[in-house]
Amino acid sequence: MLKLEKVSKYYSAGGVVATGFSKVSLEFDIGEFIAITGESGSGKSTLLNVISGLDSYEEGEMYVGGMATSGFTREELEDYRKRYIGNIFQTFNLINSYTVYQNVELVLLLSGAKREEVAPKVHQIIERVGLKAYENTKASKLSGGQKQRVAIARALAKETPIIVADEPTGNLDTKSAAEIIELLNEISKDKLIIIVTHNYEQVEQYVTRKITMHDGKVVEDKQLKSEAGGFDEPEAKEAVADTLSGGNTLRLGVRNTFNIPAKFILMLVVFVFLCGGTISSYTGIMNEKSYMNSGWNQFFADTSPERIVIKRSDKKAFTKDDYEKIEAVGNIEQLVKDDLILDTAAYISNDSDFWLSGILESASKFEDQIVEGRLPKNDREVLIMVSDSEYEREAAESALGKKGFLTNDNTGEQLLKEKIKVVGYGVLTREQQEIMEHSSRYMSGYFCLSDKGLNEIRYAALESRSKITFNYDGQEASAPIKTYDGVPEGHVYLCEDIAYLSDKWAVGQTIKVNNKSLYFDDNYEFTVDAVYTSSNYNYLTGAKTYDEGAGYVYMNPKDYKKMYTKGNYQSSVKVKDVKIIDETKSKLEEMGYDSFCLKDGMFDSSQGFSTLMKAFLTLTLAVTLIALFFVTYFIMKLILKSRNVYFSTVRMLGGTKRNCADLIRVEIITVANIAFAICAGLVALVHFGVIGNIDYLNQLVSYLNVKNMAIIYALTILMSLLLAARYSKSLFKKTAMNAYKEEV
Ligand code: ADP
Ligand code: MG
Repeated sequence: MLKLEKVSKYYSAGGVVATGFSKVSLEFDIGEFIAITGESGSGKSTLLNVISGLDSYEEGEMYVGGMATSGFTREELEDYRKRYIGNIFQTFNLINSYTVYQNVELVLLLSGAKREEVAPKVHQIIERVGLKAYENTKASKLSGGQKQRVAIARALAKETPIIVADEPTGNLDTKSAAEIIELLNEISKDKLIIIVTHNYEQVEQYVTRKITMHDGKVVEDKQLKSEAGGFDEPEAKEAVADTLSGGNTLRLGVRNTFNIPAKFILMLVVFVFLCGGTISSYTGIMNEKSYMNSGWNQFFADTSPERIVIKRSDKKAFTKDDYEKIEAVGNIEQLVKDDLILDTAAYISNDSDFWLSGILESASKFEDQIVEGRLPKNDREVLIMVSDSEYEREAAESALGKKGFLTNDNTGEQLLKEKIKVVGYGVLTREQQEIMEHSSRYMSGYFCLSDKGLNEIRYAALESRSKITFNYDGQEASAPIKTYDGVPEGHVYLCEDIAYLSDKWAVGQTIKVNNKSLYFDDNYEFTVDAVYTSSNYNYLTGAKTYDEGAGYVYMNPKDYKKMYTKGNYQSSVKVKDVKIIDETKSKLEEMGYDSFCLKDGMFDSSQGFSTLMKAFLTLTLAVTLIALFFVTYFIMKLILKSRNVYFSTVRMLGGTKRNCADLIRVEIITVANIAFAICAGLVALVHFGVIGNIDYLNQLVSYLNVKNMAIIYALTILMSLLLAARYSKSLFKKTAMNAYKEEV
């Protein structure tokens, strides 16, 4: 049955070679009940482990049923253990978190027993070892003798021809020890039983043969009684390739997930961390990317994707006729004639207790959304619309009833000469808020003015976007303009330093004025009427000090106003359906309007840089996920260390590498799914406004549509599979025995 020919086992640790046993030649047959004795360190356990296939050997040959084993691959060795060997240990090696029933059942499941035959068999075996009353007791609650009975039950369940027991009574009191030996004797009839013991008297009356070892050598091999004899060489169990069925793997994996509550909770926390980390780094990156999509478009404050900016191809001002034609194009939600207003980002502040930023809008359309206060009644009143967050609401509320200057956010110039009063505030809808978030900078909301107020601002906006240059006797100069009623129309007063640009006598000369912007390029001529100096400035310009007036060109306010009293050169439309915005754009172009979709402008504005940045962000995401993975892996490894005992026990019971890897996978994936469900639940709660009203959180959650959640789920599961693979790989670096020895 089993034959060893000059087999030696050496241990090498740290360059030192120790001998487990050397040149042992023995033969064993079915029906034998063999005791191996010898002092501690003589090599008994090592010999048993080699026989069991738990350890390899270096020299000689071991035959099983005539088959040489030295060339066995790992799989063949696993198969050998599974079909031939039942192990019983001094330390019992039970799975403490399993019940007696589950411990025995595990063996049957691992050997591929069918579902319906498992239960009756388990009951029968448990009864045979006398533990019927303890079937549903956890192994950890049993006495030593009972534990060893479970170990024997397990060996029986395996139905192997060979049972090896390494000091099975070493941890038991005399009475339990005697009972265990008797039980082993009972089951020994058609099996080969090899038992290692210190205490030979205990087994003397049963054994058929006594082997004594000393210093790694067999020094005595004594036949005591002839074995029962007449046994046929028993067939080992059929080799079955993958015995643990998928369904049973699932059942065991799920059982393992929950049967140690503390471990389950720890793992869940780690996975919630992994999953939450994945969600937050993923959405964080999405958020960054979307900022890049909207871009820092310097020219347009309102960068909503629905917007098309239009100009007449002939660069002339729009007429009423144009507007009618444009509105008839279809898919037009809104025509914004005064579109400069759209792009004027401003802030209102009284320098002490409030500061709000916003985009200008016409007040009338927000009437229904007012929370407190009212619509503006004149051009010195404003309604503020803010996003729906506590912070913004409070800011708006604190501004209510106060006055402040409306200032251009780009230029720092006051858009209106007098202070305006905040007469009401309201809250934006989610869609309005999204449009605002698409705009290029961070804004509190919309400043809603009366139409007259808006018109004045439009004038100021036009002014701030144009550049005036003077040409005086062939010399280019750019100087700021001031207005003074005392200057006759069509005339200007020059400051002396501008007048000195020419050698000629200034008064009476013509000065050319060019006023240029994106929308117009106008030329005017003025006659120089006077030159003011440090001595006559007050008389000519009304300025109180010379410093206040120096360097300017003074003209009559009517002349100045004329330069900006112009038609509309640029308008915008907002489309209803952004999906067909390109069609709408082509129609407008066919009709003779230069059109420009803001959504395209976002890419142009960053010119390739954004592609690079996106690649960089994707890389950042990958690096974050890898870091997250390793942090999780190391924590998991610590937690799973407690599982090493479980898996080495499974291996000793005949579980293959693949079985263990499958079980780990099921366990980790189960936890990962629960963690994902928890995270998805939290996301949903934030999404539907049940918890948290933190802007940033809401913003992040807004990226988590079904598609993105699916991607995150896939990432989480992928990382879990990698974790499982890494862990099972590390588990199988060692032989089953070494793995076990290290843990116990
Ligand atoms: P026994 O079971 O008879 O007490 P063992 O078989 O455990 O003895 O040990 C036999 C010899 O092998 C001893 O000298 C022991 O130190 C050595 N040995 C056992 N296991 C290892 C190991 N994992 N690494 C190195 N030496 C070992
Ligand atoms: Mg030993």
